[in-house]
Amino acid sequence: DAGAAASGGRTGKPHAVVVVYPMQGHIVPETHLALRLAARGFAVTVVTTEAVHDQTARALGVDPAGHDAFAGARAAGMDVRCELVSDGLPLGFDRSLHHDEFHGSLLHALPGHVEELLGRVVVDPAATCLVADTFFSWPATLARKLGVPYVSFWTEPALIFNLYYHVHLLTEHGHFGCNEPRKDTITYIPGVPAIEPHELTSYLQETNATSVVHRIIFKAFEQARGADYVLCNTVEELEPSTIAALRAEKPFYAVGPILPAGFARSAVATSMWAESDCSRWLDAQPAGSVLYISFGSYAHVTRQELREIARGVLASGARFLWVMRPGIVSSDDPDPLPEGFAAASAGRGLVVPWCCQVEVLSHAAVGGFLTHCGWNSVLESVWAGVPMLCFPLLTDQITNRRLVVREWRVGVTIGDRGAVCADEVKARIERVMSGKEGEELREAVKNVRTTLEAAAAHGGSSQRSFDEFVDELTRRCG
Ligand code: UDP
Repeated sequence: DAGAAASGGRTGKPHAVVVVYPMQGHIVPETHLALRLAARGFAVTVVTTEAVHDQTARALGVDPAGHDAFAGARAAGMDVRCELVSDGLPLGFDRSLHHDEFHGSLLHALPGHVEELLGRVVVDPAATCLVADTFFSWPATLARKLGVPYVSFWTEPALIFNLYYHVHLLTEHGHFGCNEPRKDTITYIPGVPAIEPHELTSYLQETNATSVVHRIIFKAFEQARGADYVLCNTVEELEPSTIAALRAEKPFYAVGPILPAGFARSAVATSMWAESDCSRWLDAQPAGSVLYISFGSYAHVTRQELREIARGVLASGARFLWVMRPGIVSSDDPDPLPEGFAAASAGRGLVVPWCCQVEVLSHAAVGGFLTHCGWNSVLESVWAGVPMLCFPLLTDQITNRRLVVREWRVGVTIGDRGAVCADEVKARIERVMSGKEGEELREAVKNVRTTLEAAAAHGGSSQRSFDEFVDELTRRCG
């Protein structure tokens, strides 16, 4: 009919508008969540920023003007398309260098642009639900205006959602939000086993809680209280008590791990940097011999930290594949590795600016992952059965390490920021890559991987949770 033709055949389906948080670690799971919804019969409109679109297209080497990220998914029969919105900053602005301006813009400029876009573009067919990253500071308010349910998507562990959700308890008890926070164990967050103050996210350890990121977090969690549903990229069996406590608060669904289908190069390109092909080099290395090193897409390390790690890697004698993201130290330090590093490691190391991480982690040559503990990296490492050496830098990474090292025992720590030293790095690499401890870690990571696989399989907890969520949402949107 005419209506269906005008809306491109979308009429009659529930229509999910998925608003992606414009950072790599959010883009990856949110793109795959959008595809999952499309695979379940939703018409999906993915809203992303012009800057992300531009950078992703350039990483692929294509003209942003002609780039359609979801063309392949549509060709495979999924009803998914993309709409762009400005984040309020010029395209050429270096968002990774100026975190405060970037986040300020997400807080102040983006909400109005998204609202304007939804009014203009997504009216036919009307959105029937708004799926947005929990870190946005406006979705519950906007969903109420549109008269649709707000599905809040949390890309970090449930533990961290729970800590932010109960930040008022941390404040009341004096563990946060004062000049001299208490240093003793925190035992009063519902569902959270005893946790030490130094295991809280970096933002909850800061005494001055007035930064733009703090404002984002506080606003976001006010909004999260108004969410109709919360989806979390975790697995019930890994965080049972935390999830049970959150379920008592609101409909909370553990639907992880959300990974590219088949744990292979994604059907939809999501990388913001061009991926170097490492497969030929990896193919030439013995099984389990390579240490993969990456600190993710966002956090910076200091030159000093990088040098200590580099010296430790050299001294360990291990083979390595190191992702040295452009500007990892700062944009005016293009070559932060110590002088002579390339020559000293020739023949046993490869340094690249960016790679397809899931492909690298699933290669048989990779035997360990020195990681900043970004949550996607943690899930990907476990899924690939690779034990971790943890060097968290900021935000959730610090709390994620607790899960990896203390709770699941699938990784070791290589020292805290500022105190990391080459000797310790060398010793830890040797323990993980060749020692008996390495064998134990590999055994443990296999077990956790089995838990993830079972959860994601037909009839598993994450699948059932996703089914329940889709049924409930379809009923409500129908
Ligand atoms: N990633 C990648 N290539 C790289 C480094 C990272 O594809 O060279 C991907 C990685 O697979 C993960 C995401 O980028 O999905 C990073 O997310 P994570 O939560 O680990 O860290 P963040 O970048 O948010 O700190």
